Parts: sequence; C-alpha cells; structure tokens
Amino acid sequence: MRFHTFLLKYGEIGIKGKNRYLFEDALVRQVRRALREVEGEFCVYKKQARIYVDCEGEYDYEETVDKLKKVFGLVGICPVVRLAENGFEELKKEVVAYMDEMYADKNFTFKVESRRSKKTYPKNSMEISRDLGEAILEAFPKIRVDVHHPDVLVNIEVRDEVYVYSQIIPGAGGMPVGTNGKAMLLLSGGIDSPVAGYMVAKRGVGLEATYFHAPPYTSERAKQKVVDLAKKVAQYSGPIKLHVVNFTDIQLYIYDRCPHDELTIIMRRYMMRIAEHFAKEDACLGLITGESIGQVASQTMQSLAATNDVCTLPVYRPLIGFDKQEIVDVAERIDTYETSIQPFEDCCTIFVAKHPVTKPSIEVIRRSEERLSEKIDSLFAEAVRTAEVIEIK
Ligand code: ATP
Ligand code: MG
Repeated sequence: MRFHTFLLKYGEIGIKGKNRYLFEDALVRQVRRALREVEGEFCVYKKQARIYVDCEGEYDYEETVDKLKKVFGLVGICPVVRLAENGFEELKKEVVAYMDEMYADKNFTFKVESRRSKKTYPKNSMEISRDLGEAILEAFPKIRVDVHHPDVLVNIEVRDEVYVYSQIIPGAGGMPVGTNGKAMLLLSGGIDSPVAGYMVAKRGVGLEATYFHAPPYTSERAKQKVVDLAKKVAQYSGPIKLHVVNFTDIQLYIYDRCPHDELTIIMRRYMMRIAEHFAKEDACLGLITGESIGQVASQTMQSLAATNDVCTLPVYRPLIGFDKQEIVDVAERIDTYETSIQPFEDCCTIFVAKHPVTKPSIEVIRRSEERLSEKIDSLFAEAVRTAEVIEIK
C-alpha cells in the first residue's frame, strides 16, 4: 500500500489555551527533527488540531514510521491514503480496493466514519458512511458491520482530496521535548541511566549528559559505548550535549586520602557536584540519575541521602521504585540494552572497596571529605576545564 500522508494524533489533556500552541509547535518541531535523516521529502504542518506529514515522492515507509514512533507527545500514527476527488462511484471503487489491499483476511467487523470539510460535496457525512459501508459489505461477504465496537474503523475525510485511513500505530506518548525545560543526565555505560534519561525526556524535558571516565583505567571503548548510548537516547530526546569528564585524578586523590569503605559515596558526591556545575552553566533545571532504592550499596536510603546532600538542584531518579527486570524491559524496548551490556569497565568499578559502607552518615562523610581540602578545588577546576564536549545529534 502506498501511503501519502500520516495523520498524527496527540493527547490533549492539560493543554488548553496558550499552552496548546506551545505544545503543538514543539510537536511539529520534533516531528521535523525526527524525519530529518529519513530519505524523502516531508511536509509537516498543523491543521484543525491535528498534525499532518505529507510525503512527497519516494520515501522509506518503515523508517518513517520507526522515527515517528520515537516522537514524544504522539499517541497515534495513522498512515493515510489520499485519493483524488473523482466522484462518488470512483471513491467507492477505491475504498473497496483499499480494504482489499489492507486486509488479507476479510473476516472482521467494521464501521465507516466520515467527515466532510468540503461542504459542496454532493453527499453529507452520514450518506458517505452509509454508502461506502454498503459497498464494502457487497464486495466482501465475510465482513460484518459493528457500529459500537468495530475491529476496524474506516475513516473517510472529504476535503479537496479524500483521505482514507483505518490503521492507528501506537505512538510513544508523553509530552513533546522542549515543553519542559532541560535537565542534566548522569550517563554511565550501564543499563539504568539511559532508561532514566529516556523517562524524563518522555515528559518533554530536553537532555544534556555528563559522563565520568578514568583513563587509562577505563578505555576509549568504554567511552565510545557511552557515546553510542547517548545516540540511542537522542533518537527520542533530540540532540544531547555530552560532557566527558576525566575523573582519574579526583578518584586517585580520594583513594589516597579517604577511608576506602567510603570511596564510592565520596566519588558519587563529586560526580553530582561536577554534573551540577555543568547543569547550572547551561540552565538545566535538575539532575537525573539511574538510581533505584537498594539496588547496590551506594543506593540505600542512607547512601542516596549522602549523595543528595551536595546538590542544590533537584535530583530526578525516575527508576527509584523499579526492580532491575522492569528497567531491563524498558531498556530492551528502547533498544539501549544490547549496548549497555557490552562488557567495558566503568570508573566506579575500578576503585571499589570490598566492603563499602551501606549506611553512611552524612556527618562522617563530610568529615572525610575535609581531608581533601588541600587539592580538591584545583582538581575540580581542572576536571571541569578539561572536559570534552561531544554534540550528539
Ligand atoms: P547504571 O546502570 O546507570 O550505570 P548502576 O546500577 O551501575 O547504574 P551506580 O554505578 O551506582 O549504579 O550509579 C548510579 C547512577 O550514577 C547511574 O545510574 C548514573 O546516573 C550515575 N553514574 C554512575 N557512574 C557514572 C559515570 N561513570 N558517569 C556518569 N554517571 C554515572
Ligand atoms: Mg554503573
């Protein structure tokens, strides 16, 4: 089947008045962005509280749908066949041909629903629905009408052309990115943080990211893995500015000066501080991590409190109540899982203690950090100064 247009449906809850325009305009921008890399010419526009994508000439249908499925804010994607307006007899034939091609097995119930925005059309919408329904029934003996719960709802819209569609491909839901500011994701090469970024972006929040590595203890491949993950997340969130921070000297210094069972917590506190530094520089409104209560020693309630202690921006932890398997399920669905499980070392795993504290006291941790006072400010400044910025498209 050759589809000429996509009709895009979006949820309307909570988007009244002026916000509605912002919402729609952001959605149009995100649809354009999503299709930028797809072969073909697309014209994206809004009309009568709907968004349309007209596809001019040849285009890759599968790829187009795949990209549209990643646009937050869309709840349904309807591929539309556009027919030239050549009189009703011709329309009947074409709609029957549409049904024939769309549905190999004709054993289902249906209903025709029509709208007529071209008021000069010789039939009203009731008559259009009724007469097209009749033509479909005549053509396919096994098909039945069900006006209340049809398996297939055949939509007809008469304008200068006639639009026919009956398929609704589920969209990603959520809110269009760009309608809710920006946040800084602490992105590691693990399974959790890409999912956390995806979930916050789903609510309309643009992303930046910070990744900490520890060369030469961590490899170039470990960094590439994070870049690859950022690219996967960016398919949903749009471009991500990724800050890559060399964390080696800070980690070695902590290792040198602080009790080893507190290493992970102190290191995590410095990660938060540095990420927050970049966040504030770029007007991000919060931090995002992939933490989940109790998953590891650094994610007990006490550890989370100790990590939180150094942040002034809100820290969003969208996976806080998720079990690992639930996180894995989302990771598989958004296609980050396979990349996440590639076995490359993370900076956190290199300097870990055998028995990390699981119930750190904030007071004790603060006191331990005082041992860093001699050099930590200059190391911090150096880490920030030498951070590499990678623009992920
Ligand atoms: P993930 O699967 O996201 O790596 P994790 O289960 O391995 O999470 P931790 O290593 O304790 O958990 O990290 C908790 C959170 O801290 C991560 O979800 C991520 O947001 C952040 N984080 C951890 N390591 C790094 C890193 N090297 N660079 C940036 N952020 C990191
Ligand atoms: Mg990790």
